[in-house]
Amino acid sequence: MNPVLKRLYDLAPASVQSALVSAFSARLERQRYGGRFEEFRALLEESQWWDAQKMREWQDERLRAIVRHAAEHVPYYRELFRHHGIDAQKFRGQEDLPRIPVLTRETIQRRSEELKSRRPEDRRLTQGHTSGTTGSPLQIYYSDDMITMNYAVMDRQYRWAGARLQRDGDRTAVVRGNVIVPLSQKRPPFWRHNRSLNQLLMSSFHLTPENLVSYFEVLREFKPAVMDGYPSSLYVLAKVLLNRGERLPVKAVITSSETLYDFQREAIEAAFQCRVFDYYAAAERVVFSVECDRHEGHHLCEEYGVTEICDEDGQPLPAGQEGVMVGTSLHNIGMPMLRYRTTDRTAFKTHECSCGRPLRLMEDVTTKAEDLLRLKDGRLIPPSVLTHPFKPLDSIEASQLVQTDLDRLVVRLIPRPEYSQRDSDHLVRELKARLGADMRVEIEKVERLERTARGKFKWVISKVDLGL
Ligand SMILES: [Zn+2]
Repeated sequence: MNPVLKRLYDLAPASVQSALVSAFSARLERQRYGGRFEEFRALLEESQWWDAQKMREWQDERLRAIVRHAAEHVPYYRELFRHHGIDAQKFRGQEDLPRIPVLTRETIQRRSEELKSRRPEDRRLTQGHTSGTTGSPLQIYYSDDMITMNYAVMDRQYRWAGARLQRDGDRTAVVRGNVIVPLSQKRPPFWRHNRSLNQLLMSSFHLTPENLVSYFEVLREFKPAVMDGYPSSLYVLAKVLLNRGERLPVKAVITSSETLYDFQREAIEAAFQCRVFDYYAAAERVVFSVECDRHEGHHLCEEYGVTEICDEDGQPLPAGQEGVMVGTSLHNIGMPMLRYRTTDRTAFKTHECSCGRPLRLMEDVTTKAEDLLRLKDGRLIPPSVLTHPFKPLDSIEASQLVQTDLDRLVVRLIPRPEYSQRDSDHLVRELKARLGADMRVEIEKVERLERTARGKFKWVISKVDLGL
């Protein structure tokens, strides 16, 4: 939203804000569900059962088309292919992909205009926003088909969870990064209705124990069938519900955009009395992976893009080996991204899912590179292993780890009244046991924790160079 509109929005009463949200959504909806949505949806319904060979042939056909398109209409690729002696007419498919150098964030930052297609019919583009976790936002543009495909895979994710996403679908309470309620607002309502999609949009920025009482009231009134949100926000709702001895049964909970830790999944499933279906989607829209009802990993949506797990030199690694995710969009004709190097690390699983869908399984993306801690000896520590010292402590409302130096870690926490020095001692001792005695661990009691500009919560904030 542009700043003037945002200011007018902030000044409007809640009912008008709900009407504006609905109108804005109706416009987006035409983009999401118009065009080729039904075609994509039918394709995804069928292709989820294709065997690996058929999927690969389908992907290769699209890859060849997109590589030829890039060579012809995209200045950046015209030059890159010439420089590396790549003949787009002879490009066969995935076997030739590693010949194309990876595309980095830095390149997009410097040359995003040259990455856009020059063909007149590709000019209608929507600007995308990346999460900005690294503090350097990217200018990425999406074709209409890309946006439609994104909603088609999300629609399939909902159906795998036994739910329905669209206008005629399930009532859904959403707790994501939407800044729909002014940050300065102190009293409810901390939500707005999006009637266009039958959603109750709830703010992730006002989740204090006092405010949550009113969140639960509106949820009981709204009676959602689905909860959809950031793991950290849903975890806060779940914990407070459980502490009050209450439950709020729904059909399914959908999470995404942050690492979902096991302790969060357990609390959310207990509070909402259903399974959690997590999905991973890179903001740059090159990779999309989702959980099915077997929860054995994240199925890669292979119709969405070609995903490689690569070593530091951009060479593909076999299943079972962890590396950095490199993704190629099969739909973004307006700004083709071939072999975009994400900042996320994972591995392909070596087995197939028991649901029978041949779509490959990925490990959870638990090690977003920027969320790791780095020790003096160069070891990188994934955050999930650091959750253990916190598990036995009921006296902490919420916490966040900030690594300020190679040998200094600050634990920010919101204590409950019963929090004591003993708990601090326990945390320092247990964290040192995992990070080494030379790590200085300091406890800092705070009233609130830092969120990113998009409202995402990061449990680990690293301010040291990870050397990745
Ligand atoms: Zn499955």
